[in-house]
Amino acid sequence: MGLRQHLPTWRSAGVASTSLALMISSAAVGVAAAPAAALAAAPHGCASAGTAAAGSAAAPAAAKVRAGGHAAKDPDSLTAAQVAQREADLAATAAERSRGKALGPTLTASITVPVVVHVIQRDSTRAGGNIPDSMITSQISVLNQAYAGSTGGVATAFGFQLQSIDRTVNPSWYPIVDGSSAERAMKNALHKGGKNTLNLYLGELSDNLLGWATFPTRNLSLQDGVVALNESLPGGTATNYNQGDTGTHEIGHWLNLYHTFQGGCSGSGDQVSDTPAEASAAYQCPTGRDTCSAPGTDPIHNFMDYTYDSCMYQFTAGQASRMLSGWNTYRAS
Ligand SMILES: [Zn+2]
Repeated sequence: MGLRQHLPTWRSAGVASTSLALMISSAAVGVAAAPAAALAAAPHGCASAGTAAAGSAAAPAAAKVRAGGHAAKDPDSLTAAQVAQREADLAATAAERSRGKALGPTLTASITVPVVVHVIQRDSTRAGGNIPDSMITSQISVLNQAYAGSTGGVATAFGFQLQSIDRTVNPSWYPIVDGSSAERAMKNALHKGGKNTLNLYLGELSDNLLGWATFPTRNLSLQDGVVALNESLPGGTATNYNQGDTGTHEIGHWLNLYHTFQGGCSGSGDQVSDTPAEASAAYQCPTGRDTCSAPGTDPIHNFMDYTYDSCMYQFTAGQASRMLSGWNTYRAS
C-alpha cells in the first residue's frame, strides 16, 4: 500500500509514569459482568486473518496498521471468500433468530455495551505499558462521542460504559503479538463477561500495529475482543494516532463492520451501500482522493479507513444499520 511515510521513533518517547502503582489491580466501575460461561471455547482465527484460513469456524480478525507499518504482515482485510462466508453465516443466523421472535431487529434500539479493560504491562513504567486510568476514561468518552454521531457522523445505537479495569504485569505478554500463543493465553486468562461484553486489551503491539479485533460469529470464544495500542488512547504518544480513534475503528470491526476499502472497487465492497468504493486504504488525510470510478470520493473521513485520527470522524447510516443487525444476530441475548 502506498502513501506511507517514515514514522519517528515514537516508541522510545514513553515517559515514566508516577501516577499509578503497578501490580494487578482491579477497579470496579459499575455493572456486574455476565457469566463468562456463556462463551464457548472455540478456536481463534486471528493469525489466519490475512491468509487462507486453515481452521473451520475460526473467527477472522481485522487489524489496523499505522502509516509506515509493515504491510506484508498486516492482517487487515479479509479475502473475498472470507467475506462471503461471513455474510452467508450472518444471513443464516439472522434468519434462525428471526424465526424465534415476533419482531425483527429494530433500528431505534439503544444499546449500552459494558467495557472491560485489561491493561497489559511489562513493568511499572509508562514505556512498559503503565498508562493512567485517565486515558482509559477519556477513551470511553471518545467512543461515546463517535458512536453518538457527535463528531460528524450519524448516531448509532451504541454507547459504552466502563465496567472495570484490571492490570497485569507480565513481560511474556508484552508486546502483545498478533495471533501468538501468548495472546491466546492472555485472553483465556483475562476475558470477562458474556457475548455482549467488550473486552479491550491495551499494550504495546507487534508488527507496528495500532490494533486488531475479532468479528462477531455464531460461536464466540474467549478470544473475542479488541486489542489496541496503549499509546493510541487519547493523550498517548502515538503521533497522529493518539486521539482514541483506533479504539473506535477496532470496535467497529467487533460490531461487524469491514474496512471501507474491503473488496476494492468491485463487488459489494464493505457490504454497506453508503460508503463509496475505495481501491485501497487511505493514509494521513488525502482530501479529494478518488480511487474508484464508482460515484463518490473515497471515504477518508470514515472511522473504518486508515487515516489519521484527526481525519476520521464519521460512521454512515448504512454502517449504523449493519452494526445493529450484527448485534441483534450475534451479540444480543
Ligand atoms: Zn481495521
